[in-house]
Amino acid sequence: MAGVQNRVAVVTGAAQGIGAAIAIRLAAAGAAVAVVDLAQDATADTVAAITSAGGSAIGVGADVSKSDQVQAAVERVAAELGGLDILVNNAGVLRDNLLFKMSEDDWDTVMNVHLKGAFLCSKAAQKYMVEAKYGRIINMSSTSALGNRGQSNYSTAKAGLQGLTKTLAIELGPFGVTANAIAPGFIETAMTKATAERVGTTIEQMREAVAGAVPVRRGGVPADIANTALFFAGEESGYVTGQVIYVDGGRGLL
Ligand code: NAP
Repeated sequence: MAGVQNRVAVVTGAAQGIGAAIAIRLAAAGAAVAVVDLAQDATADTVAAITSAGGSAIGVGADVSKSDQVQAAVERVAAELGGLDILVNNAGVLRDNLLFKMSEDDWDTVMNVHLKGAFLCSKAAQKYMVEAKYGRIINMSSTSALGNRGQSNYSTAKAGLQGLTKTLAIELGPFGVTANAIAPGFIETAMTKATAERVGTTIEQMREAVAGAVPVRRGGVPADIANTALFFAGEESGYVTGQVIYVDGGRGLL
């Protein structure tokens, strides 16, 4: 099974959380991985986890919302790792607030990192993918795409990512490039810990509440998303495109 063996992958926001788990999973399956995050120093733990397990990885510092930094990062990856086959647009931030209290800056920051970031990275990466007639783009959406109180900015960006995914699938499909999205529910990371603190609860209480509310009776962990990303990234998934998989323990069924 070819899977992601000898493929080159870029995972953004991979210093920690879901991105780190995806980078580690892809590397364990044989991909050379560029671990991208705001500061290169911050990627050291993920890179070390990959290389100490015998995998191949480099750390790259780039702000995905800045076109010059994205262009430089993608060119560096292609030069150092020999191409670019898989892009995971995972970098993200939260600036939650009720609409009447949400600042313009909170709106712009979330749009710029999630939506513009995915646009810039996809645009830079597709050049290599189209040339090679092979590529896999995976965008990180969220169950919040369906609407979530206090997240008008984030919900909009995550719904926008689903539209971007479907359009990339249409435009790039003729060149052997697929585009798919993952929409996680609650996944325990620094992001959800910060949310718990903001709403005056703890991550343990939040995990318990989620476990009680979803059919599979547990909270999500980054490995749940990494597993789904590996499926989309694999060579054998070439007939799967424009899809959104909700990885939420079945919450959407209730
Ligand atoms: P996380 O632990 O906060 O990790 C996100 C990473 O992205 C951080 O290392 C962050 O760096 C980095 N980042 C932020 N802005 C960036 C930029 N402009 N350029 C490059 N990197 C940037 O979050 P997570 O929970 O793993 O979330 C990963 C993705 O999954 C996000 O897109 C999130 O919206 C999505 N998601 C998460 C959940 C969940 O329950 N955790 C659910 C649905 C969707 P800093 O720490 O320096 O800011």
